[in-house]
Amino acid sequence: MSAIALRGVSKAFPGGLAVRDVSIEIADGELLVVLGPSGSGKSTLLRLIAGLDEPTAGRIHIGGRDVTSDPPQARDLAMVFQNYALYPHKTVRDNLAFGLRMRRVDAAEVAARVDNAARLLGIDALLERKPAQLSGGQRQRVALGRALVRQPRAFLLDEPLSNLDPVLRASTRAELALLHRRLGTTMVYVTHDQEEAMTLGTRIAVMRDGRLEQLDTPLEVFRRPANVFVARFVGSPAMNVWRSDGRDLGIRPHDVEVMPPGAGDVDGQVEVVERLGTATLVHVRADRPDSELVRVVVAADRAIAVQERVGLRLRPDRLHYFDERTGERISVEADL
Ligand code: ADP
Ligand code: MG
Repeated sequence: MSAIALRGVSKAFPGGLAVRDVSIEIADGELLVVLGPSGSGKSTLLRLIAGLDEPTAGRIHIGGRDVTSDPPQARDLAMVFQNYALYPHKTVRDNLAFGLRMRRVDAAEVAARVDNAARLLGIDALLERKPAQLSGGQRQRVALGRALVRQPRAFLLDEPLSNLDPVLRASTRAELALLHRRLGTTMVYVTHDQEEAMTLGTRIAVMRDGRLEQLDTPLEVFRRPANVFVARFVGSPAMNVWRSDGRDLGIRPHDVEVMPPGAGDVDGQVEVVERLGTATLVHVRADRPDSELVRVVVAADRAIAVQERVGLRLRPDRLHYFDERTGERISVEADL
């Protein structure tokens, strides 16, 4: 059993609280993504789980046992960072084997685990190379392989794909999902990239200023964001949010339709047209007292020009309402 539980965990640094009273129950075999902007406390949370930092308050349980005061070695977890350091003078094989040899795992077992990890990661043809002879993506795989051969109770991954270019990032992301499915090992995956969180996570824990803002499946976070912060942070292009009748009104760019002037809920003028290839993102200046810019996604082949007058229809079943003061979601009938 390698469920992980955080109960009322806080971490204070001289500069303030990096993690504030966070409680999360991570199921055995789950892939939990911790998502938040830079400085929101994601890495600190991971380091607390790993035992690299000790919480100021709260308890941490792994596999049903309280490990709050245990050193990292006693927790049997493997961590992968963004800035992985491989031994430059060792071959890939020796990079993978090194940690196991240090632990005096016998040679036949080391060889078997290295071969198995290399096969899983598709780096079996690279075992005799040195890190300098590898691409960035291949190096990151070796870093993952070093975690894999340890057969830990859980993997902790801190922005492991951030150094890769977008294409490689997307493919490595898919491979990670596959790897998680094959291994069935608990993973806690930290990222600031909402797309990565949406595609990878069994559930997403959204953090801001050390606080857990929402903990839910990707679809729930997308469909029913707990507050304005989550609403704006998750989903691309970002949700439109504006003030209306004493509350904040939100709608995703995909849920606004472009109509002839007068035929929608509000008219406006097209200010910017961004052709993304698969779709077109249009920014419309609404004829309203605050003249908000509304982001609208239309089909890629639709003819639409800057300065064109349009009507906008907001799909009523896709509107989000938030408390103007607290930013918290206001439940509406569509939520139930
Ligand atoms: P994230 O990983 O989400 O970018 P971090 O967990 O690294 O965020 O940092 C959260 C906050 O805690 C930041 O304000 C950061 O400056 C602070 N912090 C992190 N580590 C330390 C430390 N060792 N000493 C002091 N402050 C720290
Ligand atoms: Mg970080």
